[in-house]
Amino acid sequence: MKKIEVLSLTHEEMSNFLPDLPKYRTDQIFEWLHRRNAATFEKMENLPKTLRYELSEMFFIPKISVEEQWFNQNDKTEKYLNKINNDVFVESVLMRYKHGNTICISTQAGCRMGCKFCATAESGFHRNLTAGEYLMQVYHNPDIKNIVLMGCGEPLDNLAATLRFVELITHPKGKNISQRNITISTCGLVPQIYELAEHKLQITLAISLHAPTDEIRETIMPIAKTHPLPELIQACRHYADKTNRRLTFEYALIHGLNDSVQHAKLLAKLLKGLLCHINLIPINKARSGFSHTPRRETEKFAAILQEKNTPVTIRRSLGGDINAACGQLRARQILRNN
Ligand code: SAH
Repeated sequence: MKKIEVLSLTHEEMSNFLPDLPKYRTDQIFEWLHRRNAATFEKMENLPKTLRYELSEMFFIPKISVEEQWFNQNDKTEKYLNKINNDVFVESVLMRYKHGNTICISTQAGCRMGCKFCATAESGFHRNLTAGEYLMQVYHNPDIKNIVLMGCGEPLDNLAATLRFVELITHPKGKNISQRNITISTCGLVPQIYELAEHKLQITLAISLHAPTDEIRETIMPIAKTHPLPELIQACRHYADKTNRRLTFEYALIHGLNDSVQHAKLLAKLLKGLLCHINLIPINKARSGFSHTPRRETEKFAAILQEKNTPVTIRRSLGGDINAACGQLRARQILRNN
């Protein structure tokens, strides 16, 4: 019989698999897995030996290893190239802030979205990760306060696992992380935004916008052809109405493409009246042909948005100088293997 990956099971599903087990035993197993990071059933020392054996016959715990690791002295970010279940490579990034640690995790091995500036897109799509594989990327780090789904992959292209992950990571018997400390980032899969809205989660939804018009957006993000801006913005308005949560728009400034005064004005107009916040990000030269906007012009761009009452912050690029931004480690590994 094929073993079941236990970390992806909800508390309720686990009880259903083990109907004869008293509830306190299921609680103990859940806590070992989700709070105490047990790597094997053998380690669950308050369980009877026979039960530990039965569990190991029925289930398996996904394995994660750090294949490579980069540390940035300046901003104290740590980037990991993780190998999951001896099968796929993904990236995660640990960011140390005064108010707590943030981990950026991957949701797919590769990606199908094909954004022109993104290194993950370059190395193609391998497979979806399971919710348990999301969790492993969080659990191997100590003291995580915030989680962002901004590593390799498109979280809404793997929505079932993403929702399961939110349920498990916020479970009171597990890590008990607040929904408010989780950010889910999407390139703009409109039907899934509507579906997510129905769940009325308190997570932050981030939209990778990167352009104020479809004309520009289409040149860098193929999704713009499937779901043009009017459709996307309407979905965002619906999402904000349903959840009462402020949306974040990610806007990577690419010199000469989307960073002029005119673009800033168009952007403010596009997002007018929407409960949102804009994050300006310097584009990381993961792929050739894109260069970043000088600091002064970035500040000017931000000032125009502010004038128009659109809340904006300029995000410093974390990890850029250690080859650590956006899919670059994974791309390198895949090149090496081919
Ligand atoms: N697929 C999701 C989440 C993963 S990408 C999404 O598109 O939102 C995480 C963020 O990094 C996105 O905003 C993405 O557009 C951005 N990104 C990708 N490559 C980048 C690059 N070279 N420079 C700056 N940001 C980049």
